[in-house]
Amino acid sequence: MKEWYVVNDVLWTIANKGKIEGYLCIGCIEKRIGRKLDYLDFQPMMINVIDGKNKSFRLVSRLSPQSSEFVRRAERMRDTIIYFNTHFVY
Ligand SMILES: [Zn+2]
Repeated sequence: MKEWYVVNDVLWTIANKGKIEGYLCIGCIEKRIGRKLDYLDFQPMMINVIDGKNKSFRLVSRLSPQSSEFVRRAERMRDTIIYFNTHFVY
């Protein structure tokens, strides 16, 4: 199932019964929250950027329409993570 995505923390915590770890397909998370997902529910992360591959039709439909601002925010987060990982050692 090509349904890898990240929704906002509060929504995920509710849908996943208080746990952070886990996976729910689009059908199952929507069943749990009682409504369809909307693009506003998703985190601005590269995994949520529509790239023309590796996403099911229904996931793409929930992510659409995707603004250029959303894509820019996702790219900035990606760049920050890359910077952090190359400049700091744990
Ligand atoms: Zn499911």
